[in-house]
Amino acid sequence: WAKAEGRGRWAVYDPERSAADIARSALAANLPAALDRGEFLLHYQPIVSLLDGSMVAVEALVRWQHPELGLIGPDRFIGLAEETGLIVRLGAWVLRQACRDAESWRRAYPEARLMVNVNLAARQADDPGIVETVAEALERTGLPAELLQLELTESAVMGTAGESLRALHQLADLGIRLAIDDFGTGYSNLAYLRRLPIHCLKLAGPFVEGIRGDGADVVADHRDERIVDALVRLAHALELWVTAEAVETEEQAERLRSLRCDTGQGRWFGPPVPAADIRRRLEGKEGTQGTRSRLPEQRAG
Ligand code: C2E
Ligand code: MG
Ligand code: MG
Ligand code: MG
Repeated sequence: WAKAEGRGRWAVYDPERSAADIARSALAANLPAALDRGEFLLHYQPIVSLLDGSMVAVEALVRWQHPELGLIGPDRFIGLAEETGLIVRLGAWVLRQACRDAESWRRAYPEARLMVNVNLAARQADDPGIVETVAEALERTGLPAELLQLELTESAVMGTAGESLRALHQLADLGIRLAIDDFGTGYSNLAYLRRLPIHCLKLAGPFVEGIRGDGADVVADHRDERIVDALVRLAHALELWVTAEAVETEEQAERLRSLRCDTGQGRWFGPPVPAADIRRRLEGKEGTQGTRSRLPEQRAG
């Protein structure tokens, strides 16, 4: 019954809970200075064609190189940055850095036409300066708009009304692409698929997790597989691309390919890595083009 009393009051008397709260607010308090000190960095995870195994895009994933705590993942600070509003400034930094890296890859390997995906928090999509921020990142770095794709979750899109809906259209008008991240896990009011200039659906990890390749035939009902099948058909009927997230095994990759999913991302194709590793991967691709199997034979890294 203690919990029912209200969390806030009881937290004060719970030593563990308040220690966590203190750590959390200390982390939050440090975020702005960390940004000024340049403690954030980007890792990039390959997004790979399920048809020919080529790397068609990378997703930029932010990390915090904390002086004492080491490398911290976004799940521990993006929420805080949203609450404090710092996400707007942090997000602008991420955008510019990702565009800068993508432009340097483009200059070195123009025929790779490697796209870069950047996550946009709801709070960023709602920011009145978002269109200008994106336009400026493209302008300053020279990255062609069609090589940038912004990932928004369903809840971020659903939350957008009026002004920010217009912003999404303006962003699309710049020539960039929009993707729905973690598709199928939010409030899927599919009406937004009619209203918004979306280019790609990213199927959420949990659906992909339920796909276990041909071995799954012994499993009762293939429900996840049928859902993926239906979602891929829906996407293609709307002329959208489909990326499967969190692909962890060759069996999943093979199965997703036979379900006509376009691209995959996940540990099977390679974990998020520093920009230099992406460059090396592009380099390797040039040397082995035409000799590659349809799917990469081993995990990268
Ligand atoms: P997301 O956009 O859905 O990113 C995919 C997450 O799945 C990443 O976690 C990635 O490391 C992880 N992942 C990769 N391969 C696998 C796999 O095979 N299996 C499983 N289960 N997971 C895999 P990460 O890097 O910790 O990022 C977590 C979330 O933080 C992201 O989810 C995104 O919502 C948010 N985020 C990351 N970077 C940014 C950013 O620059 N801006 C904003 N606004 N949000 C960001
Ligand atoms: Mg994402
Ligand atoms: Mg995702
Ligand atoms: Mg996510």
